[in-house]
Amino acid sequence: MDLTTLQASVAASEPRLVNRLRELVEVESPSDNKASVDRASALVTTWAAELGATIKRHKQKHFGDVLELKFGPPRSKHPRILLLGHLDTVWPLGTLANMPFRAASGKLRGPGILDMKSGVVMALEAISALAATGNLDRPITLLLNSDEEIGSPVSRPITEKIAQTCSAVFVLEPAQGLAYKTARKGIGNYQVTVEGIAAHSGVDFDRGHSAILEMSRLVQTISAFTARTPGLTVNVGTIHGGTQSNVVAAHCTAAVDVRILRATDAGKIDRLFRALKLTDKACKLTITGGINRPPMERKPGTVALFKQARKLAAQLGFTLEEASTGGGSDGNFTAALGIPTLDGMGSIGAGAHATHEHIDPTHLIPRTTLLAALLATVD
Ligand SMILES: [Zn+2]
Repeated sequence: MDLTTLQASVAASEPRLVNRLRELVEVESPSDNKASVDRASALVTTWAAELGATIKRHKQKHFGDVLELKFGPPRSKHPRILLLGHLDTVWPLGTLANMPFRAASGKLRGPGILDMKSGVVMALEAISALAATGNLDRPITLLLNSDEEIGSPVSRPITEKIAQTCSAVFVLEPAQGLAYKTARKGIGNYQVTVEGIAAHSGVDFDRGHSAILEMSRLVQTISAFTARTPGLTVNVGTIHGGTQSNVVAAHCTAAVDVRILRATDAGKIDRLFRALKLTDKACKLTITGGINRPPMERKPGTVALFKQARKLAAQLGFTLEEASTGGGSDGNFTAALGIPTLDGMGSIGAGAHATHEHIDPTHLIPRTTLLAALLATVD
């Protein structure tokens, strides 16, 4: 594979890449609106068809269909690679009115441009460049789901099934600064509920058992879990309880976010939650939830992919950095199956899920070339 030719091919397609990016950003696609996400996937389908893709829609009732696009020869001496992305965004319909696609101050802006419509467009351009330079000699699957931003409830089994037929997974989520991601924390959610006994705070104070008071003690205990295991964090994000200031609170709930570094921490944190005890025995405690996204641990297979990417980046004239993050992606699922997974292979920018969401377009061509070069060379 000739890197210079590959880079020239990607560079020649830059105007199309940016046009497609505008088109895709201008089709709003919030996770909770099936028709909108399906419109975004219809647009991508037309581009994939131009590349001769085999197109399969995994039909969904409540979410956009999950789009499976296959490129390259169905069989080859090289194993299949999975490119993983999502077409849904966190932005509700109508966001474009105040946050349109636009180029300003050397940045491209728009809802979902970084997370991760640019990653989707980059993947298609990388495959296109491979085809144009005679390097598309392996099977590649581009899987675009519709529900990543709400935890991938319907796409997870599809992703896991397809990933098991692939030797590596490249995730098109945004880069971390300038870095690819080789590790992500696992994520858990717990709901803590305390039932107390209501009473008039003036007339019957002694008969009351405050769910809020008990919860305040639990919050101290739960928050202290953070210090017990390296990389593990516990955040009590919300508390709801009580009815009036003159009523001893009969009810209090808390929602807790947990992040873990190692898969073995899942059982450990779960035991800590299940062992929680109340001080006031008249109150009742209920714990639900658990770890729902396993960590993407930094495993040798992933490290090998990263090293190869770094070598290719150096040949392309830039330094590729490596990072880990506390945020999850669909890469967590594939990595947990033991499939080497490299993440953060999409755009460089900032402000995902925020009104200043943008990408730095100067990195589009180098990063797309790197993606193509990796697709052409990994085993
Ligand atoms: Zn994303």
